[in-house]
Amino acid sequence: MADMADEGRGGVDPRIHDYREAAWALARGTYDVKIPVVPADEIGRLGEALVALASAMERKVDELRRLIQITEKVNTGILLDDVLNYVYDSFRQLLPYDRIGFSLLEDGGHLLRAVWARTEAAVPSLPRGYVASLRGSSLEAILTTRKPRIINDLELYYREHPQSDSTRRILSEGIRSSLTCPLIAMGKPIGFLFFSSMQREAYANVHVELFCQIAGQLATIVEKARLYEELLNTRRLLEASNRALDRLASMDGLTGLPNRRYFDDQFPLEWKRMQRAGAPISLIMIDADHFKAFNDKHGHLVGDECLQRLALALRDALPRDTDFVARYGGEEFVVVLPATDLDGAKYVADLLKQAVSQMGIGAAPSESVHGITVSMGVTSMRPVRGQQPDELTRMADQALYQAKQAGRNCAVTLAAGAPPPAKGSVP
Ligand code: GH3
Ligand code: MG
Ligand code: MG
Repeated sequence: MADMADEGRGGVDPRIHDYREAAWALARGTYDVKIPVVPADEIGRLGEALVALASAMERKVDELRRLIQITEKVNTGILLDDVLNYVYDSFRQLLPYDRIGFSLLEDGGHLLRAVWARTEAAVPSLPRGYVASLRGSSLEAILTTRKPRIINDLELYYREHPQSDSTRRILSEGIRSSLTCPLIAMGKPIGFLFFSSMQREAYANVHVELFCQIAGQLATIVEKARLYEELLNTRRLLEASNRALDRLASMDGLTGLPNRRYFDDQFPLEWKRMQRAGAPISLIMIDADHFKAFNDKHGHLVGDECLQRLALALRDALPRDTDFVARYGGEEFVVVLPATDLDGAKYVADLLKQAVSQMGIGAAPSESVHGITVSMGVTSMRPVRGQQPDELTRMADQALYQAKQAGRNCAVTLAAGAPPPAKGSVP
């Protein structure tokens, strides 16, 4: 540089020195440079070319800066609407438009839905939600070529395509030129970005590159949102199937009642809940009488059906929503009665006994279930700290055993800390 400066001082045209300084300034990213262009001789014309270069570079850098900002907004997960508004506000000095529209393909690419539009027109005529068929439209051709399209005289275009409802609508907004770019995400067309101007002949090829870059960024954000939505849906499905699996895992396959596992999980929870509330909890252990003989007489399938009916009868006889009956195993069932004392439990045992005695009466296909009886062990306690829920289960088992000993078809009650059990009356 030192020798060139020497040349400048050595009688060379001083503009050369200015141009050289300007070129270095441009290289450093300073575009606001002083470039003399007079007199308009060869050197002056070189100056003019430098001025043009400076403004082209400034413009390009501005475009890039704005595009980078879109990328940043896309990366922060900002909403599509906000990005589109940003685009509308940011590119007006760089591209001519009085309207921007953003539409996405639906129904496997047969329909196009306007998802966003902003216009300078007082009365927008192509609002959000507007749906048009793509079949036979000129937009279909853009999807095939994937090349942007400029229409610089929409009135003429409409005369040639009078069937185009969207052109009619946009003309009524005062729009005269349009630049349309397909939105491509993961190699597939997903919609269109429309820039439109109220001026005729508004668009030239020079606008297309920037326009397509904006479209590319917008396609990315749409794709991101779609993938995110898919991810959420998959997660929802997964959670739903996990819940269904949980339900299945705690359901008895034959009777549809909660199974032993459910009882083992839920009973301690109810027991603790009652302990905290200082309330009693009751348990009724139920076992079908002489069920082996029933199976032997009627066959295992009728035995299964009998257990199903028995399960329904027990479930439907329970008076409170908080009560539940579970299949404890084989021909045994267990009833949990939260907030219920021994008198309440005896009352429920009577209801259950009545329900069992009604079973199968007049009910096709198998009347053989009529006459089946059950034995019950009825227990109750007011849980206190230091006790375990198993104590109540053991007591219920014991009471059931005693009911069997007492001749079956009866209920034996056993309260915590109570004197030896008494055989319950069976009306
Ligand atoms: P008890 O009055 O003393 O209870 O006599 P029981 O015959 O009912 O008792 P036992 O324990 O001797 O036999 C239980 C019978 O219940 C034998 C078994 O085949 C039958 N059983 C258990 N689960 C099922 C089932 O899912 N379906 C059918 N059909 N029978 C079952
Ligand atoms: Mg049994
Ligand atoms: Mg039995």
